[in-house]
Amino acid sequence: MRITVIVAVLLSIAARGVGQNTVEKPQACWLETSKAILDGAMGGAGIRETRVWDSTVSGVLVRHLKGDVLIDTGFSPNAEAQMNELPPDSRAFGLQIVSSAKDRKSILDVLKSVNEPPTQIARIIMTHTHYDHLGGATQLTAPIYVASAEAKWMMEQEAHPTITPPSLVRAVKPRIRIIAYDSGPYLGFSESKDVYNDGTMVVVPLPGHTPGSQGIFLKLGKGRVFLIGDAADTLEAAERGLPKSSLIRANTDFEPELADETTRRVAAFHLAHPEIALVPAHDRVAYSAVFGNPSSCISDLQATKGDSMADQNEVLGKAPSPVIEVVTLKLKPGVTDTQFALVDEKVQTTYMEKRSGFLSRESAPGSNNDWVVIVHWRSIADADASMKSFATAPATAAWMSMIVPNSMVMTRYGW
Ligand SMILES: [Zn+2]
Repeated sequence: MRITVIVAVLLSIAARGVGQNTVEKPQACWLETSKAILDGAMGGAGIRETRVWDSTVSGVLVRHLKGDVLIDTGFSPNAEAQMNELPPDSRAFGLQIVSSAKDRKSILDVLKSVNEPPTQIARIIMTHTHYDHLGGATQLTAPIYVASAEAKWMMEQEAHPTITPPSLVRAVKPRIRIIAYDSGPYLGFSESKDVYNDGTMVVVPLPGHTPGSQGIFLKLGKGRVFLIGDAADTLEAAERGLPKSSLIRANTDFEPELADETTRRVAAFHLAHPEIALVPAHDRVAYSAVFGNPSSCISDLQATKGDSMADQNEVLGKAPSPVIEVVTLKLKPGVTDTQFALVDEKVQTTYMEKRSGFLSRESAPGSNNDWVVIVHWRSIADADASMKSFATAPATAAWMSMIVPNSMVMTRYGW
């Protein structure tokens, strides 16, 4: 009899641990702590369609029977003062970022807006530990989960700060826990952590922006989204694999080349899984497409708008089908590889990257004045449209003049 009573008491404690917000189905809520309208040129390098970067500083709350998780926490209330702990360049950039943030709310206020008591949060999982993601964690008490590379880097920031203020590191340090990627491969990522062991939330490494940056998949209902942290700043940059703007790249990416590679990887993932909406941490348009409005909670991601190209293709009644175009050509006698490389670079930046449906391009010399150019297009229609105008476009005249007439051979694959 006594045993029965003890079991009953334990069960009631466990049930209370789960809390009053217990939801039947897992749920995700958009928690916006500030927003800003920025120049599209800040949001990604190269030729873009995005003229205005509708930016946000946001987190996502996931409600689950096994304990609620908060992903990212926004700025700390004293973010401005914390910038004084950084070296001059970082301080100036940081102050610019903090002062551009409009309608700032604390993480406590936005949690209140979705009726989430802070004590209800079992864990905080960070996409990375920059101040605009980690700051709000100082107002909470839950353990903070980061990749081991991130924990190490963060501790180094305490002694030699470049971007994360030491007082912020000190405030959260005792609560830092390591995420072990021990759940095996996931959707092409070689390692992952299935947080609830049911596929609702799966964390994968996305290194480069910081050493332990990570992306988080959410599966709710029949749909999925991929929260990519700062692997790209805008949805377009994420979908197309554009590098960050040089200003943000220089000021925020820990290892810029690796960060670029990760961005391209996200874009390749998007091509392979267009049904999974990408959500860069600072793109308001991407959050709106998934959640509608800030402080909205949803339990089925299938209703999401998803990717713009997929939508367009749906309207046109065809599935997106990327094309790889391989062009070989011969340079005229007397034209050197170096001369051609310069002109080729210009054609790429002033012409090719402006074509609709352009994804990426690379070129390289071979032997005997031979060159190869490989272009990735979103669809055969985009590849065709570009081919029709290429030979006669003014921007390509110098390029065409260096090539042996009729030496160009083009082959397309994958459509
Ligand atoms: Zn960041």
